[in-house]
Amino acid sequence: MKDPAIIEQIKCIVTPENVRINEPMSLHTTFRIGGPADVYVEIINEHEISRLIDLLKSKDVPYFIIGNGSNLLVSDKGYNGVIVEIGSGYSGLRMMDDIIVAKAGTTMSKLSHFAMENELTGLEFAGGIPGTVGGGMIMNAGAYGGEMRQVAYRVKVIMPDGEVKYLTNTEMGFEYRNSRAKREGYIVLQAEFMLHHGDRQVIEGIMRDLTAKRKEKQPLEYPSAGSTFKRPQGYYAGKLISDSGLKGFTIGGAQVSEKHAGFLINTGNATAKDMYDLIAKVRKEVHTRYGVTLEPEVIFLGEFD
Ligand SMILES: Cc1cc2nc3c(=O)[nH]c(=O)nc-3n(C[C@H](O)[C@H](O)[C@H](O)COP(=O)(O)OP(=O)(O)OC[C@H]3O[C@@H](n4cnc5c(N)ncnc54)[C@H](O)[C@@H]3O)c2cc1C
Repeated sequence: MKDPAIIEQIKCIVTPENVRINEPMSLHTTFRIGGPADVYVEIINEHEISRLIDLLKSKDVPYFIIGNGSNLLVSDKGYNGVIVEIGSGYSGLRMMDDIIVAKAGTTMSKLSHFAMENELTGLEFAGGIPGTVGGGMIMNAGAYGGEMRQVAYRVKVIMPDGEVKYLTNTEMGFEYRNSRAKREGYIVLQAEFMLHHGDRQVIEGIMRDLTAKRKEKQPLEYPSAGSTFKRPQGYYAGKLISDSGLKGFTIGGAQVSEKHAGFLINTGNATAKDMYDLIAKVRKEVHTRYGVTLEPEVIFLGEFD
């Protein structure tokens, strides 16, 4: 999608400085992998998102929403279309009575700290998840026994027909690392959280402990997308991979982490193809040994064959 007329129209809708052409996606994913997006747009308000999506739909231009790119593997060939970032440009937190209101681009870390500062408990688990509130709602992000579905009250979305709607927790259809919004392609604009009052020091202590646990167990010193695979029923992906003898297994610059086999890491110069092939190898090996099919949690964008 390199039509100059459409690019000009995009620049009329959003802040022109926030429109970039041939933008390397390696700059926008925590894997630090990915070829160029034809067009990359950072949006800063709801009006921009609605108008931009209307334009792209009317011109049949492919588009993809990203938050912090912390669960994405983008092809080396990049993305033929428009990447719409709902990130730091569209972030903010406020209290509405006892409810926290977060714009979709707010990081989950900021959300979790904001809850702590307001002496509200329930979001401690989210402090170390490096995504946005929008990405967290789509993925029903979770850790250490907590999940977004336990705390989300209402979610403001743009439906596929362009209507802006508030969905209740039940209407969000949360499942393990999945949601109705993900299945049906809704755009998350904002989420509200209903929590319980708690003691600030206790909340802070829990957050500190969870951060220490992550540092101890996870290879945070390397680019990754966190756990590459979903947890298979009755098993742990990391243990199956480790028991298959794959710890440290490497293809090009992609490696099964020595520290936590559930994490596939970029040791420095991995291509998307390296990572894609490593994912395939791990799935094949685990299936052969244990008959378990590992489903990627990571989302693939672009062409890999
Ligand atoms: C070191 C590390 C640790 C991690 N630990 C955890 C963990 O403990 N638990 C966990 O669940 N995940 C974890 N993750 C994965 C990741 O952080 C989560 O999946 C997170 O929810 C993704 O948010 P994001 O904003 O980065 O989304 P992205 O990766 O940018 O996008 C993910 C999906 O959400 C969609 N999306 C994003 N924003 C919006 C929006 N506003 N509207 C509509 N769709 C949107 C995208 O289209 C895509 O389909 C980890 C990742 C890393 C790198």
